[in-house]
Amino acid sequence: MKEFKGKAIYNPGGKAREYSEWAVNFYNGCSARCEYCYNRKGRSAKVLGGDKPTLKKTLIDENTAYEIFKRELYDHGKEIQKTGLFFNFVSDPMLPETFLLNSMAMRLCVTNNIPVKILTKQTWWVDEFIREENHNGTIWNCTGTKDKFFIGFTLTGHDELEPGAARNQERIIAMHKLHNHGFKTWASIEPIIDFVSARDMIIRTLGYCDLLKVGLQSGKKYDVVEAQSFVEWLDELQTPKIYLKESLQKLTRYTTEDLDEFFVYPDYLW
Ligand code: SF4
Repeated sequence: MKEFKGKAIYNPGGKAREYSEWAVNFYNGCSARCEYCYNRKGRSAKVLGGDKPTLKKTLIDENTAYEIFKRELYDHGKEIQKTGLFFNFVSDPMLPETFLLNSMAMRLCVTNNIPVKILTKQTWWVDEFIREENHNGTIWNCTGTKDKFFIGFTLTGHDELEPGAARNQERIIAMHKLHNHGFKTWASIEPIIDFVSARDMIIRTLGYCDLLKVGLQSGKKYDVVEAQSFVEWLDELQTPKIYLKESLQKLTRYTTEDLDEFFVYPDYLW
């Protein structure tokens, strides 16, 4: 497939591609300030990794950003529809500072039958989101689009590394609420800080989470035997669907083919 790099929408490369073929970023910087954040490391950290989200310069202002997004979405909608659009690899789409533009973009997607894949560490928006759905039979005025939302929370079990995020337990409660209201939910168990915390997070989501995406922290050393026993434990869970990121497959030498039917490939859309 020819890669598309728009001003808002693009085809991610590298490890991000394991999460989604299509993504959108409006902002650089993120007030969650996670210690392990990929955007805060390396040569691009100055631009991508600030503590305060700021609109990307090429998008000019919020209104122009929305118009650019709309044009790119309409130009590539048929392709994006197949796998959904991921919000966001840079920054968090549900921060109070980034929410308005992202939620407008999400609304445009779902009303055009395009799945929206959210990944966040914020929970303040969840009650309102559910209430609106309850009271009006609509989601943000998007009647009949509930099945187009795939709502994910990152769970590491380490609040101390994520000072500007909701606590992990709050994220789990938010996931339970959304699942109880019929939304499809998923958890990004990445980066694994340690396997004990990762198991604990997974156990607390069981019954409320439709997909786990599990991956290692880039550059961190792990014990191979411990990693293998973690994958074997996942294999015995038999639920929910699980995507093992390539980093974990490589370390443990377990591949999706070796494991049972609950293990899925990167393009799985549940
Ligand atoms: S929430 Fe995501 S983008 Fe924001 S600091 Fe944490 S890892 Fe980085």
